[in-house]
Amino acid sequence: MRKVELSKKPMRFRPSASHSPPSTLLLPPSAVDDSLFMGEALKEARNALAQGDFPVGCALAYGGRVIARGRRKGTTDGGGNELDHAEMVALRRLVKMKQAPEAAAITAYCTMEPCLMCFSALMLHGIGAIVYAYEDAMGGGTACPREGLNPLYRDSRIVVRSGIRRAESLALFKAFFSNPANRYWRASHLAEYTLKQ
Ligand SMILES: [Zn+2]
Repeated sequence: MRKVELSKKPMRFRPSASHSPPSTLLLPPSAVDDSLFMGEALKEARNALAQGDFPVGCALAYGGRVIARGRRKGTTDGGGNELDHAEMVALRRLVKMKQAPEAAAITAYCTMEPCLMCFSALMLHGIGAIVYAYEDAMGGGTACPREGLNPLYRDSRIVVRSGIRRAESLALFKAFFSNPANRYWRASHLAEYTLKQ
């Protein structure tokens, strides 16, 4: 059983900007849901690739449906934009929702392991779980040891699961790095790691 964070308060809708500590509601694991929602994130990643962008997608799921989504932007000129990551785009859309659900009950589906920026943003927002497809062997941040950090990070009970539909995400990165027109992270450790698989 996956743990479910149970709030001391009854679960209710509230503005997502709330910074109260994340409550813990551990739901039974559902591989079907994980696969389904990752499919939605993969659609975003495919759209990014079709636009010539780095193929990362993110879907924020709550209550059996996707409530916000995003794809990577700003990489078509080779780089320089490290703000418009798929997770940040999705979080910005979540923040704009008039009545966003309790963040701890939201799961972020990411086609690539979130970087430190996105991992921190998801944690600070109080998102309950992250599920990612393909590990980021160069810039992934989710395995960062948090014991020595300040309480907000150290005490976060965010759940991370990995490897869901990994092969499909990997195929998109292979396609991206195989295209000479794409200069973003060209000849990087990540490109090498991806293309040798
Ligand atoms: Zn990121």
